[in-house]
Amino acid sequence: MTDFKEFRAYITKMNALASVLEMIDWDNETLAPKESFKQTAVMSSALAGLYHQLISAPELVQMIEDLKKQELRADENAILRLVKKEIEHLREIPQEEYEEYNRLTSVAGSIWAEAKRNNEYSGFAKVLEQLIDLSKKFCKYRGAAGKKAYDLLLDDYEEGFTQKELDLFFDQLKESIVPLLKDIQTKGRKIDTSFLHQPYSVEKQREFCNWLAKYLGFDFDRGVIAESEHPFTTSFHNKNVRITNHFYEDNPMSAIFSLIHETGHALFEMNIADELTQTPAGTQMSMGIHESQSRFYENLLGRSKEFWIPLYGHLQETFPEQLGQVSLDDFADAINVVSADCIRTEADELTYPLHILVRYEIEKAFITEEIDTEKLPKIWNEKYQQYLGITPPDDTKGILQDIHWAGGSFGYFPSYALGSAFGAQMMAHMREVMDVDSILAAGDINVITRYLTAHIHRFGASKSSREILKDMTGEDFNPKYYVEYLENKYRKLYHI
Ligand code: ZN
Repeated sequence: MTDFKEFRAYITKMNALASVLEMIDWDNETLAPKESFKQTAVMSSALAGLYHQLISAPELVQMIEDLKKQELRADENAILRLVKKEIEHLREIPQEEYEEYNRLTSVAGSIWAEAKRNNEYSGFAKVLEQLIDLSKKFCKYRGAAGKKAYDLLLDDYEEGFTQKELDLFFDQLKESIVPLLKDIQTKGRKIDTSFLHQPYSVEKQREFCNWLAKYLGFDFDRGVIAESEHPFTTSFHNKNVRITNHFYEDNPMSAIFSLIHETGHALFEMNIADELTQTPAGTQMSMGIHESQSRFYENLLGRSKEFWIPLYGHLQETFPEQLGQVSLDDFADAINVVSADCIRTEADELTYPLHILVRYEIEKAFITEEIDTEKLPKIWNEKYQQYLGITPPDDTKGILQDIHWAGGSFGYFPSYALGSAFGAQMMAHMREVMDVDSILAAGDINVITRYLTAHIHRFGASKSSREILKDMTGEDFNPKYYVEYLENKYRKLYHI
């Protein structure tokens, strides 16, 4: 008879391989030299093969069968459930095809980077098509339960959410945000942001960001901040959490809000309970809940005037020439300005979900239908015109801007919009149980983090996003909080 310790030792091996694969990704994004990718991909592929062997071994299935008959603690049950889910995910996929997929995602990243650098989409179209085909093939292997391909992919990132439900969610957003954006563009007052777009020393930005990370609760003994093309977060366990940032001399708010966003992810990872870390329940399974936290810090907290009350003085001291004469009110308005632009990662809080809407509709289409990948840039540009009223000047600022599809991550994008909606629902609840504004104004952000840890972070992936929301707010997912929040905030800001 298996005991849980034995099972735990087995998944520690699996977790070690998964973490090494993550470390390679981290290295590829931050420090690895340009010439290294192809040969490193051989390593990734071999390690992924070993991982596949471990997860598809009959021995593991037997252990799970044994343990299912035993009385386990809640955290142990959650680990068991998630390992089972992963087995079901990979079991039907032949090892050679899984290795091929990992090799492909490993090289696709550098093919995408080159295509983006040279503004040559056709260089990427072929590998994207291969990834889509393999992904569809995997869905077929896994589709025995009769689930549709896109539903399977969505479920990988957001358990329990289907295409049908997301169609409803995005329809609601479309109905409300597209006309709201048009109103802002035609009737909204002008908000001055010129003081944010002048030279800000990158060295000073870096210094301020480190100071801000500490204020937010980022623990530098358990975390590292590096630099990469796009800011992101990786975690190997709750005492080794990595975030990256990116600095632009003429746009300090890009680095500041990326830092707040990634620190939101990092706090989640650092606060996962010790019993869960280094297991499948201690990783970021629910992407929506993860994004809810990063966006909670970035937007719901970080873009409020109250958040800046204890911090703005230090920002002014760091940049006296640029901000010395700018009032806190003017600063708080400027960091919330709406501007329809081509780049998702630089988008404001209101237009952001429209960027996601475009990606959602496109990936849903290429997974559920047959679409020539050569045609995608045209579809992309038409949708940008339709929803945001702009057309990207080239593919680098259009379809080539994001790395996700190059990593084979289809079904991932919706989590970003869901995360914002989860966050708004959480905030509506928190405003009922505590005076969020006074807490922020007093510089006590740790009070808020402690509440989020108690209701969200410590559970890692052991609960689904639906369970988290229900247990925290007493209500199932409800997009109305998000739509109401955006309507109220932006109509007030723009006097419309
Ligand atoms: Zn994020």
